[in-house]
Amino acid sequence: MLPAIIQKLRNKLGPRYVLDKPEELAVYECDACTLIKKSPELVVLPCTAEEAAFVVQVCNEHQLPYTARGSGTGLSGGALPMRGGVLISMNRMDRILAIDPRNRTATVEVGVVNAWLNEALKPYGLFYAPDPSSQAACTLGGNIAENAGGIHCIKYGVTTDHILSLQVVLPDGEITWIGGNTRRSHGPSLAGLMVGSEGTLGIVTQAVVRLTPKPEKIRVYLAAFDTIAEAGGAVSAIIKSGMMPSALEFMDAFTVRAVNQAFHVGFPEQAEAVLLIELDGSSSQVAHDELKLKEILNDHQVSQIRIGETEAERAALWKSRKATVAAYGRYLPAFYLHDCVIPRSQLVPILEKIDSVAKRYNITIGNVFHAGDGNLHPNILFDPDDSEMVRNALEGGEEILHACLAVGGTLSGEHGIGIEKAEYMPLQFSAESLEKMRLVKQVFDPAGLSNPDKIFPMRSGCGETHKAANPAMLTGEGLWI
Ligand SMILES: Cc1cc2nc3c(=O)[nH]c(=O)nc-3n(C[C@H](O)[C@H](O)[C@H](O)COP(=O)(O)OP(=O)(O)OC[C@H]3O[C@@H](n4cnc5c(N)ncnc54)[C@H](O)[C@@H]3O)c2cc1C
Repeated sequence: MLPAIIQKLRNKLGPRYVLDKPEELAVYECDACTLIKKSPELVVLPCTAEEAAFVVQVCNEHQLPYTARGSGTGLSGGALPMRGGVLISMNRMDRILAIDPRNRTATVEVGVVNAWLNEALKPYGLFYAPDPSSQAACTLGGNIAENAGGIHCIKYGVTTDHILSLQVVLPDGEITWIGGNTRRSHGPSLAGLMVGSEGTLGIVTQAVVRLTPKPEKIRVYLAAFDTIAEAGGAVSAIIKSGMMPSALEFMDAFTVRAVNQAFHVGFPEQAEAVLLIELDGSSSQVAHDELKLKEILNDHQVSQIRIGETEAERAALWKSRKATVAAYGRYLPAFYLHDCVIPRSQLVPILEKIDSVAKRYNITIGNVFHAGDGNLHPNILFDPDDSEMVRNALEGGEEILHACLAVGGTLSGEHGIGIEKAEYMPLQFSAESLEKMRLVKQVFDPAGLSNPDKIFPMRSGCGETHKAANPAMLTGEGLWI
């Protein structure tokens, strides 16, 4: 990077907030998708939208690629600067600017961590519904860019359902607001387009988000089953009944044991599958749903039921669920996962397929996922230093992905496409659809500098994807594997 560019950025942002030493850059070389690493040439930490816009203008002037980054908890390599250039860390923009209980909105800077917003909302009896399991670390900007989901999204919807308007630095360096702060508006939704675009259409700097009143009553059921088929049947029956649980999560036997060993939570170890089911609403609604739920669970030979009634009991159950990845770390140091969404009626056959893949490839897979949405998370555990295990993880993962797509599934429910799944896009989308998406990107970012090489496959078509499809995982400068 030219010293003159670095100096220009230091003059504007302050010397502390422009990093170029190798040991500083190393901090930003990976996200939670542990398969790929790539260091930026420069990291900048703007504190205002104006500073972020200045950085984008400098990048334009010198044709430098740039990539926005929140907390780096992304699971598809989205925040990795694949062409080097400037990494724009949004973590200093971390203020909650306004909470408006009368309109049930909050205005936030995008570096605010998801859980901080909910902490601040407690006195108002409101909450921000999208709650990724990483919410103690991930930023609202990262959530917006990935259209993040979470355990409560089955009832309350994903991030896009909770965004009213966004302040954005467009790729030409202009700052603008898109969307509107009222409940309805007309015309194509530019804010809707920005949510889930993974930093490829510009950099989000502020958001006005929708808030939800806390329900009067909440109950969490832990239901244990002797077979996966019974647990899967219970999931389908709950959905079919028309009941609207606020969470419906699945953990397999391996995950239950891992969580027990790590956190001593006493989940039923003899169970083959555990469901965590949350009901919320008015007291009468919850009482009504509980009767129906117990009936369904009994019809599916539930072997044990535990109820989390107090806030502390519920928090303990959810904490264990949300920390499963940490529990897996006691077995092997890294994990690789797909997050396909499948029709919920296909849960049992796909879980059987995952089991057969694990046996054939001799890999350990822990399943913990948003069953109510059909959003699978087969966590394939591996040791990055064991190249055979890595290859088996990639190939086994790809076989699972093909099986999910074959039953009408989609590539990603919430973790995004990033770099890690880009080569798989032609498996789900036609060449025409991909071309239309590319055209949208060009309208916003004709120079192609905003988070390049993400979402879109670099190769031409479906026939070219193959085992461990992403070339970035196999070779390449600055990458390993
Ligand atoms: C243990 C664990 C559990 C997880 N559970 C869930 C879950 O339940 N649900 C879920 O949806 N995800 C989950 N994730 C994935 C991840 O936490 C989410 O994708 C999250 O939204 C990423 O936020 P981040 O701040 O870490 O973003 P980063 O990883 O830093 O960036 C993610 C993407 O957003 C872009 N980006 C970041 N900030 C901006 C911005 N201001 N403007 C434009 N683009 C931006 C980046 O360029 C990148 O493409 C989990 C991850 C882990 C490690």
